[in-house]
Amino acid sequence: MWKDVYEDFSELTKSEQLALFNAMKEDLFPDEPDKITKLLKTIREARFSSGLGCVYCGSTSVKRNGKYRSRQRYLCNDCGKSFNDMSNTPFSGSRYPEKWVKYIELMVEGYTLPKIAEKLQIHISTAFYWRHKILNALGSLGFNQLQGIVESDETFFRESMKGKEITHRKAKKRGEKDEKRGISNLKIAVVVAQDRNGSVIARKAGTGRVKAEEIDTVIGEYIHPSALLCTDTATSYKKFAKLKGLQHETVNERQKQRVKKGIYHIQHVNNFHSRLKTWMERFQGVATKYLDNYLYWFRWLELSKNLAFENRVEQMLISACQKSNHNTVEMLRSA
Ligand SMILES: [Zn+2]
Repeated sequence: MWKDVYEDFSELTKSEQLALFNAMKEDLFPDEPDKITKLLKTIREARFSSGLGCVYCGSTSVKRNGKYRSRQRYLCNDCGKSFNDMSNTPFSGSRYPEKWVKYIELMVEGYTLPKIAEKLQIHISTAFYWRHKILNALGSLGFNQLQGIVESDETFFRESMKGKEITHRKAKKRGEKDEKRGISNLKIAVVVAQDRNGSVIARKAGTGRVKAEEIDTVIGEYIHPSALLCTDTATSYKKFAKLKGLQHETVNERQKQRVKKGIYHIQHVNNFHSRLKTWMERFQGVATKYLDNYLYWFRWLELSKNLAFENRVEQMLISACQKSNHNTVEMLRSA
């Protein structure tokens, strides 16, 4: 019986033979489903946690519309577009799902772009866009409200005009380090706020000495009105606390007053600063316009650091798919 079929086989063109071979191979040896496929149900539930909705227009008038390559498809009755569980995520339309998972693993480990490009055999600019697609998606999830005692303080990063971090810059020699005492206007202030339950916010605030309005812009909406703000004696924080009507305790670090009443201090944020700085060193300066993405990345790693590696990878994948995000290369460039 099979010999009859095989005889017909020789009558096919070369490309038809190849297509048939691949089809048979796929039937006989189906690939081990990739991790994204295995996590699809979890991703779907995270994504549509408050009901099925169109990823393009938000309409809830959506129906299931068959499957394509074993992926469930949906059709929006309002805008007429169809989508699947991965549409408008960093992974939609990707030809290399197996590389995406590996990519996430390398992000959890905090690899630099040249290392990622080498390990995955992808171009360094591809590695760059993937990174920021994922980070934009993660960042779109925003921050939790901080409650109770909220420590806050800023730290500084050198301003970088680098368009992309692809170009390598030589590390500065020790002697030319610009760690001046004063705060140069070329330094970017990053405000960090953290409560005692571990919720944390780290965001770029502005250049030079940080102003109360800038503090308000980056953390204001995330601080619960009943919270107690704990900072150093800088007037900008005093002004900010007043502005928001927050209770406020200050510690005078300059006078070596580190802890007040045994409980008020800013050591958690200051420790966060130093871990952040150490972690950032590997990137040898990141472009200012991408700084918030790196801050979110580090924050994410901090919040998940007690989980097992496997779980961190899964969680980053799921979080990156949770919200509908449309990113093009052009958007990332002009961000
Ligand atoms: Zn729609």
